[in-house]
Amino acid sequence: MQGLMQDWPLLTHKVLDHAAIYHPDQEIVSRSVEGPIHRQTYADLNRRARKLASACEKHGLKLGDVAGTMAWNGYRHLEIWYGIMGLGAVVHTLNPRLFPEQLTYIIDHAEDKWFFVDLTFVPIMEGIQDKLPSIKNFVVMTDRDHMPDTSLRGALCYEDLLAEGDEDFVWPEFDENTACGMCYTSGTTGNPKGVVYSHRSNVLHAMSTNMADALGFHSTDAVMPVVPMFHANAWSTAFSAPMAGAKMIMPGAMMDGASIYELLDTEQASITLAVPTVWLMLLQYLEQNPEKKLEALKRVVIGGSACPESMMKAFEEDYDVEVIHAWGMTEMSPLGTLGTRKGGMENMSQEDWWPIKLKQGRPPFTVEMRITDDDEKELPRDGKAFGHLVVRGPCISKAYMKGEGGNILDSEGYFDTGDVSTVDEYGFMQITDRSKDVIKSGGEWISSIDLENIAVGHPDVAEAAVIGIEHPKWDERPLLVIVKKDGAEPEGDDILKFMEGKIAKWWMPDDVAFVEEIPHTATGKISKLQLRQQFEDYKLPTA
Ligand code: ADP
Repeated sequence: MQGLMQDWPLLTHKVLDHAAIYHPDQEIVSRSVEGPIHRQTYADLNRRARKLASACEKHGLKLGDVAGTMAWNGYRHLEIWYGIMGLGAVVHTLNPRLFPEQLTYIIDHAEDKWFFVDLTFVPIMEGIQDKLPSIKNFVVMTDRDHMPDTSLRGALCYEDLLAEGDEDFVWPEFDENTACGMCYTSGTTGNPKGVVYSHRSNVLHAMSTNMADALGFHSTDAVMPVVPMFHANAWSTAFSAPMAGAKMIMPGAMMDGASIYELLDTEQASITLAVPTVWLMLLQYLEQNPEKKLEALKRVVIGGSACPESMMKAFEEDYDVEVIHAWGMTEMSPLGTLGTRKGGMENMSQEDWWPIKLKQGRPPFTVEMRITDDDEKELPRDGKAFGHLVVRGPCISKAYMKGEGGNILDSEGYFDTGDVSTVDEYGFMQITDRSKDVIKSGGEWISSIDLENIAVGHPDVAEAAVIGIEHPKWDERPLLVIVKKDGAEPEGDDILKFMEGKIAKWWMPDDVAFVEEIPHTATGKISKLQLRQQFEDYKLPTA
């Protein structure tokens, strides 16, 4: 027997419809690229997204076409997401921090036909447009007054284009499995690979992240995604915040500690999300300006890289802001686990809860997760055994764009995340490493993440990275690479002493190297690949 419920496709513009009808006056506040703070409502977003869709359709954009964007978090970028997706076309977000060769490869591979670009990034696109024959229309995301003199092919001014559209445009009907978004992963091995989201996966994922034990946005929340819309779907906020009717605060191009603080404070953000490097800048700014407080902020979501204990402590103890540690990846839409207390843990002492809270957390409904050995055999959930972290679910990739990388699922349909982790008896997962970053010493594995998290707790350390260096006896031994805090002059031995007793003796780094800067990837993570190249010829004193 079949159920007798209505077919109501899970389409992204249904989220916008809901926000516009039930939360029409809720605000979207953006720091515009032109400078001033811009304010509009969900009713405005709905009107303008429809106008944009209607205008683009008149110019020939149709179902299945790919439209690239290179833009900050802001109201126009949101309008493009909803307008283009609503046409059944695909929004392809590009990370401006990638090298020109990577950008050309990715845009060409995805066959972008349209390209929306923020004023900041016009020069980047001017520099590579000749290598991008697939792009027919460039749209500069600004108004007539700020429209630059540009060589971009047939460049349209966003506000002029929008003015051609009809605000009563009716969204076309199409299947919920239609592609709506695309984001390439950095591809540390081989070429970058395109992750393709569907309407269904994005809507389901937003619902899943909006469950109370996950991020659970309320219509009374003011959500500030500092994580860019070009980094793994902005962790769903462009869908989950409107779905809940929450206020949105979009930081635009200004990502330094002072600017982030200013927006958090003046717009009274209640929850904000970003990678640890952003929070390092904010915490440093707050340290230098002790009179500043985070009064409205209740929760901060930290993911993308491991959240060090010192960072979690600073937010919770110095500023009374709850930290939610989250893990995920582009292929997972992206949220995979969140570290919130669960039933039965209500009365757990702070002392018992803290080590669990530091883990990457537990999956919300829709994410199936387990750890396996090299033969795909499941390992115990005892918090000790560690193995390949594999995942399965309706918002997780089953293949990459154009079949790049071949079959990516195991015999039971699980996707290998490339992370190595443990899972404890409560279901909390802890990442020990990327599988290619673990340090193999004497046949055992040392977690570089654990060492980094401890080292960065030293008061004189700004940033720490650990890599494996070849060793004649042990295969590899850990080298600790340190960036000192401004004005601090710690010795290597001071830092090692600080780490003593916090980890097993044989995990202790064999040496400490000081550098001016640690290389980062385009998504703000420590680039172990580059760091290993930098220390290729390094000889450990113990070797
Ligand atoms: P990119 O590698 O292009 O930045 P992703 O954002 O998809 O793309 O990266 C996902 C990876 O980031 C995960 O597989 C994991 O290794 C790492 N990661 C994400 N969140 C965390 C976290 N909370 N702790 C440790 N590692 C994390």
